[in-house]
Amino acid sequence: MAKTDPTLIVIEDDPSIQRFLRTSLTAQGFNLFSATTGKQGLTEAGIRKPDLVILDLGLPDIDGIEVIKAIRRWSAVPIIVLSARDNEQQKIDALDSGANDYLTKPFGFGELLARIRVALRNSLRPANQLEAEIVINDRLKVDFLNRIVSIDNSEIHLTPIQYRLLSVLVKNAGKVMTHQQILNQVWGPSYQENAHYLRIYMSQLRQKLEADPARPVFLLTESGVGYRLKLW
Ligand code: CA
Repeated sequence: MAKTDPTLIVIEDDPSIQRFLRTSLTAQGFNLFSATTGKQGLTEAGIRKPDLVILDLGLPDIDGIEVIKAIRRWSAVPIIVLSARDNEQQKIDALDSGANDYLTKPFGFGELLARIRVALRNSLRPANQLEAEIVINDRLKVDFLNRIVSIDNSEIHLTPIQYRLLSVLVKNAGKVMTHQQILNQVWGPSYQENAHYLRIYMSQLRQKLEADPARPVFLLTESGVGYRLKLW
């Protein structure tokens, strides 16, 4: 592949296709993130800043066409649709909604790869993504463009440090962040020893965002290591 491995998101609920794409695209050097519902896909698309999205239209929660429209509100990332729906109107709808390409299942992997190459070649790489409004789960939303955090659609006021802490966790969602990594990114390299800052601010964030701050469901503690923001 090219110098920096492109990041791909595959939004597909069929586990066998998901597995097949994971194995074969990873072997080609792509960084792959998977989502099995439209909502997860939108969250991943906002967080991972992908170079390309591969999208199935028939998803269990929201229609793939709606996913395309939602991504297009803030990003020009190339979208290749994979669909079992082999009718012309579906293709027109997908392309009119902002998809770049359309492949009907079953498809050949060689053809998919060729279309990925074309889409990546034609896209303006770094500048094609605005800051997104990222839906973390049914309750929590972070609008990075306007710096608005909301729970159940009401805006939560965060201090600048609380906002920075949440942003670091969101941008690394799903991954365990060590205390050192978080301190470094929120406060800077000279605060490595100040783990108590982190405990204080994490507890403040939980007070503001979690329904029961003593039993957090998404701002999770990874015992002895650090913290992890859970998606959905
Ligand atoms: Ca499907």
